[in-house]
Amino acid sequence: MTDPHRPRFLRFIVPLSLVSIALLVCLSQGAMSEGHDARREPTASWCLYSPLCYEHDGVPLETENFVVFSDTASDWKKEFVAGQAESAWTEILALLDIESEEDLAFAPGRTKVDIFLLEEETPEWGGWAYYGGFLLSPIACSNVYCSIRTIKHELMHVLGFLLAGPRSIHGMLVDVWFDEGLAEYVAGTHEITTQGEYEARCRELDLVISGANPVSVHKWDDLATSATGTLGIHAYELFELAVRYLLDEDGLGRTMDDVRQLYLDLREGYSFVTAFERQFGLPLLQYEVGFQSYMDTYLP
Ligand SMILES: [Zn+2]
Repeated sequence: MTDPHRPRFLRFIVPLSLVSIALLVCLSQGAMSEGHDARREPTASWCLYSPLCYEHDGVPLETENFVVFSDTASDWKKEFVAGQAESAWTEILALLDIESEEDLAFAPGRTKVDIFLLEEETPEWGGWAYYGGFLLSPIACSNVYCSIRTIKHELMHVLGFLLAGPRSIHGMLVDVWFDEGLAEYVAGTHEITTQGEYEARCRELDLVISGANPVSVHKWDDLATSATGTLGIHAYELFELAVRYLLDEDGLGRTMDDVRQLYLDLREGYSFVTAFERQFGLPLLQYEVGFQSYMDTYLP
């Protein structure tokens, strides 16, 4: 029996030098604090909804949809990143056709997404998303400029959590390949576009993904531990391809409306397997087993 208060981390490690990739990290969190908002106390630990605790400077910057915390970032950097996040917010909500914020199940008393700009430590990840917000490490930022790709990637994770609702506080409800593939798709990764590129990736990734089949990566444990560095980046590209096929008119031809509805199905209590088939009209197992043949038809 797992201690419900102990967060369980699921993450994927990419070396510090590979700053361009939006890192995935998903986690689950135990009981939440209610009422008193300790985040706002000067130098309080910032760890509400997140098991990662960092001291902040007591002067968060609040914008329409975000509250930006940091240990030592300048006001200018907070404003700059908040501006990037606001434009990403507008873009992704339009993409998902989320018109009413009632579609987003914020925790009680909350209406905004938290961002924490980490300056003083450099962990091995660039971004870290969880129910309620995300962190950006120095890996994702150069001076005040943080990677818009990473911001979009992490924000898509957060919106997934918020669409799926409080059930996702305790853990990711969708498969890894879908979660990371969708985040990369929204962030603009479209690296694999031909049979040749696909086959080259498959040859590399056969080491870490069984049969180089991204749809077989349901949980992080399905990936070999050697999936780091360039192989990790290429795994993300394959995840993105698997999601792009679903949404491309030349592929399965489904839409982001179906994606939004899938997450809302999760909120209703459906499993990912059931929600996937309901919204995409394709049994998940059929997609996994037939992935190679789908790609043979799809990619030029
Ligand atoms: Zn991710």
